Amino acid sequence: MKLADRLSRLGTETAFAVSGEAADHAAAGNTVYPFHLGDMNITTPANIIEATYRAMKEGKTGYCPNYGIPGLREALAEDINKSHGTSYSMANVAVQPGGKPSIGKFVLALMNPGDEALYPNPGYPIYESQIQFHGGVAVPYTYHEGAENFELDLDAIEALITPKTKLLIVNDLQNPTGAESKPEQLEALAKLAIKHDLFVLSDEAYYDMRYAGESTSITSFEGMQERSVILYTFSKKYAMTGWRLGASIGPKEVIDAIAKLNVNDESCSNHFIQYGGVEALTGDQSGHEEILAVLKERRDKTVEILNSIPGVRCYCPNATFYLFPNVTGLMQAKGLTDYEDFRKTVLQETGVSFCTRKHFGSPIPGEKEFYIRFAYSGIDLDQIEEGLGQFKAWAESV
Ligand code: PLP
Repeated sequence: MKLADRLSRLGTETAFAVSGEAADHAAAGNTVYPFHLGDMNITTPANIIEATYRAMKEGKTGYCPNYGIPGLREALAEDINKSHGTSYSMANVAVQPGGKPSIGKFVLALMNPGDEALYPNPGYPIYESQIQFHGGVAVPYTYHEGAENFELDLDAIEALITPKTKLLIVNDLQNPTGAESKPEQLEALAKLAIKHDLFVLSDEAYYDMRYAGESTSITSFEGMQERSVILYTFSKKYAMTGWRLGASIGPKEVIDAIAKLNVNDESCSNHFIQYGGVEALTGDQSGHEEILAVLKERRDKTVEILNSIPGVRCYCPNATFYLFPNVTGLMQAKGLTDYEDFRKTVLQETGVSFCTRKHFGSPIPGEKEFYIRFAYSGIDLDQIEEGLGQFKAWAESV
């Protein structure tokens, strides 16, 4: 067996390996506190399930257009226009089986082999994987600790741009850090994209997952609608991770190319689920609001306990369902210098399972501080208290 050479450039989500280890630990009779995966233990709102079931019963079980059903494309364009101040129509929308497919299709539609693509690191690992798989050069830009949250350094980003830079991936409301740029920073980033003629992927997976304030999209600034693709997903906003429903939204020429990739890859997204998507966007929003209320309580408790642990410091982001505490002091106190040693020791000794910075892109040379990621989307409040209580007791033991 000789697999194709290109597979050596394909990355993965190593967080899934952490799930496997957590499952093994549980199968051995231990309690596991799952902070590792960005999945949700909250069910999809009932009105969405009912609309989908209705569509199945009404026979929406065959193929549908590769761009998605017109009703969902229209509802998405309207929803985005309302929150972003943009002027999209259904011609700007290609429905996808989830948010993730927009990443690879964006890269395939706009990047030639040898082109450079800027992407956030630490960040969602699929950016780096897809850029490299398709023959591009993945150029990481990073975040640093600011006064209230992680921040971008725009000068550092501009310094990475060369004549070969074609793409800029932006994930404001960020996984894993929970970082959120101020509108004026996003505007400056937009100006940078225009100045250097970059095409932008605005990954908005967490745009509506917020507990205070309002989200801003880089696509809202002048000149950006025509050079951006929005990654939209129903996964988080409506607790629909397993349904696989999302969309690419952008200039018609790019959306037509992406829809052609749909034809080649999956023909169309699941037909009847798209009716659930229409209900999600246009129906009762109380399910979404309840999801946020549950998550906010979990965030507050997780941040409170983490910040009470010696050698740990953690921001309280207003969006996403991730925390990215700095654990440098705790690791030093425990005499640990390796992320995997730390993660495995904590799992074995406390049952608390989390990902580390290493699961979010190749570490950048020179990084001195250590970070881990806690997702509070898949663990109930009482388990958060119990698990982090164990973690704290372990941290305090000498
Ligand atoms: N983008 C980011 C930043 C994410 O964190 C995720 C999922 O965790 C996705 C995209 C993919 O979303 P989906 O599950 O809808 O494919």
